[in-house]
Amino acid sequence: MGLIDALEQGAKLTREEWRHVLTKRNKEIADVVFQKASAVRDHVYGKKIYIRGLIEFTNYCKNDCYYCGIRRSAGASRYRLSKEEILSCCESGYAYGFRTFVLQGGEDPYFTEDRMEDLIRAVKSEFPDCALTLSVGEKSEKAYRKFREAGADRYLLRHETANREHYKRLHPSAQTLEHRMSCLAALKRLGFQTGAGFMVGSPYQTTECFIDDLQFLQEFRPEMVGIGPFIPHHDTPFAGEEAGSVELTLYLLALVRLMLPCVLLPATTALGTASENGTMKGILAGANVVMPNLSPQNVRGKYLLYDNKRNTGLEAGESLALLKEAVSTIGY
Ligand code: SAM
Repeated sequence: MGLIDALEQGAKLTREEWRHVLTKRNKEIADVVFQKASAVRDHVYGKKIYIRGLIEFTNYCKNDCYYCGIRRSAGASRYRLSKEEILSCCESGYAYGFRTFVLQGGEDPYFTEDRMEDLIRAVKSEFPDCALTLSVGEKSEKAYRKFREAGADRYLLRHETANREHYKRLHPSAQTLEHRMSCLAALKRLGFQTGAGFMVGSPYQTTECFIDDLQFLQEFRPEMVGIGPFIPHHDTPFAGEEAGSVELTLYLLALVRLMLPCVLLPATTALGTASENGTMKGILAGANVVMPNLSPQNVRGKYLLYDNKRNTGLEAGESLALLKEAVSTIGY
């Protein structure tokens, strides 16, 4: 546990040390790491779990990421929400107690800089006491500045993998790790609370990739980190690949919590999909954010990044009540 303690005290582990931490994992070690990570989270945040209302407002995407069910080449049934529909999602979320909205979507050319700016201003003026998080992919610094000036507070842009060779095997050549990283740097420069992150168990991922990811996160120090298991989607080049391990995902969440004590760390939908009690397991491993879905029921079945994506079929208020109950049974 020496290396885990060192990590908790802010040490930068060498590659060799990370390799040791990642490859010597067993249930006993993982349980201790989960307990330590939970204690760190409790120390920083107490017993509070933060909720963010997720609005998946478009599944059109110009990109063709090999893993993603809404990639350009997939036969997804496409939709985009109108500004009025988005505001109405916020309104019902607000009534349930949500004070952060996350607008997430594919890279949809319909949502130009100007349309996004208008949307951001509308949400921020109707809900001035709410934080607004965007997750709409790679844009120019000029566009990010516009979004920031319009009032957006946070931006989620997973780096996906910090290993250049791995990045090339997950994306067509038009998409590069350099560009993804330059977007993250711009977001930080502009004062967004910035979220990076990666999938666990994506094809061709090795221990060396995880070391690159962890070292990158330690350097970049994002305010938020999204980590979830890769889950295959039937209409992508990775249809036949295996899903990522839930246990390894939990272990990585815990390591990130130890390394970045104040980080906002969601128990992701993919984790909740891959394991029945995934959300609770995530919290017990150090996560402190959950993102219930506020999208209208009629489009929820269309934002399918992977197969069997969890959809409780409940409206937001009901699922929030169940979530609160489940979280309180584990003491949060
Ligand atoms: N377009 C925006 C972007 O690129 O950041 C946001 C939407 S994108 C679909 C959100 C995240 O979903 C990606 O960053 C990726 O990590 C995750 N994702 C996509 N396909 C997935 C899959 N098959 N399994 C698990 N996560 C997946």
